[in-house]
Amino acid sequence: MKLIESIIAFIFNVLIKNVCSFFVRISYPEYVESNKFHYDINPHFSIQGRTDLFAESVPLPENLHIFYLGTNSLYISDGKTGLLIDPFFTRPDVDWKKIALFKNIQIAPDPLVISKILQGAHISKVDAVLTTHSHYDHALDVAEVMKYFIANSENSPMLYGSKSTYFIGKGGGVNDENITIVNESETYRIGDFEVQFILSKHLHIPIVGETISGQIDKPLVPPVNFYDYKDGETYGIFIKHKMGTILNLGSANYKENAFKFLKDKVDVLIFGIAGFEKSVIASFDHPAYRDDFYNEVVLATKPKKIYFSHYDDFNQPLNKISDCIGKPLKTYNYFTSRNDQLKPFFLPVGKYVKI
Ligand SMILES: [Zn+2]
Repeated sequence: MKLIESIIAFIFNVLIKNVCSFFVRISYPEYVESNKFHYDINPHFSIQGRTDLFAESVPLPENLHIFYLGTNSLYISDGKTGLLIDPFFTRPDVDWKKIALFKNIQIAPDPLVISKILQGAHISKVDAVLTTHSHYDHALDVAEVMKYFIANSENSPMLYGSKSTYFIGKGGGVNDENITIVNESETYRIGDFEVQFILSKHLHIPIVGETISGQIDKPLVPPVNFYDYKDGETYGIFIKHKMGTILNLGSANYKENAFKFLKDKVDVLIFGIAGFEKSVIASFDHPAYRDDFYNEVVLATKPKKIYFSHYDDFNQPLNKISDCIGKPLKTYNYFTSRNDQLKPFFLPVGKYVKI
């Protein structure tokens, strides 16, 4: 039975991919301009009307901290060394109806917006740009962010990611010596941080998700089609520092037993909840997805804190975020129902949170 289901799923995926690329090829390219905006945060932003679900924010701390910038964009610093995960600031207003019709939607990073955000957020030192996977809402801006710091700071950062991320960096003009294609068996020392990339999986998104799964196999020179940002490998990023540890998943899925070696070693688990609560996604081919995720990630690692990222509407510019994607309260309620002693918190956009 399982074999028949796999064969049907395989044929379906091949069909969808081919139908998609056919429609994309015949449709006229439409370029999506970025929202021109400066750095600012909507002070009234809430989670479906609730303002009590955010992690406690603090004034600029001197010890290990996170600064959250929407989607799964996280700046992590100990005051000396800065890591930037999945920087995505351009936030083009992509029309999902056109995406669903496989229109040729062209997107590109916007260097002006990126520099305004980085200056406005006072992020002046980045030693490494790390990517969990290569979808556009995680990796569109990596090359421009790299070039910004190479031009504007004393040290040249290193871009870490999959081979697909390498091709985004390369196509965007980053030199090979500033890119590391990551290896699961290695630990990367960056200042006082130790970083490991743990092979994981992307959350299953039917139809559109099929067409953006796979590898990027040549340099991406923007503007390019939305569908060209294939996910590549999806990693969980484990960050170790003497002041605390973080496990970050850009997409809420797992590989069986991948995280159990981190049992009792994770202080803060941060994961992107986009798509988590949608039962159609969760149960499409995996009815027990939510419970399995909980067991494989939360119970396996036993984190001290859980923070949610990737809950904001990333079609809205950073200075005007007012909506969430999906229904994040459903996800919140699920986690609270599993263990009300370990309540998750949403990372507040544009604020510092201590580890
Ligand atoms: Zn993704």
